[in-house]
Amino acid sequence: MGDPVHLALPHAPPQPAQGCAVCAELAGLRRAARARGDLSAVTDADVEIRHHPHQARRR
Ligand SMILES: [Zn+2]
Repeated sequence: MGDPVHLALPHAPPQPAQGCAVCAELAGLRRAARARGDLSAVTDADVEIRHHPHQARRR
């Protein structure tokens, strides 16, 4: 006991994909939403990141 363990959270927020501009923007929106206490918007951003196809650039 004593050490903070964050991996055991039942609903850990999704991590934005590296190199994905959309995810980076969503992560920024989520951070701002959390800062103003807008948990609804935080959840929306979580869902969008989780379901985003992560297409960083076009071919
Ligand atoms: Zn993405």
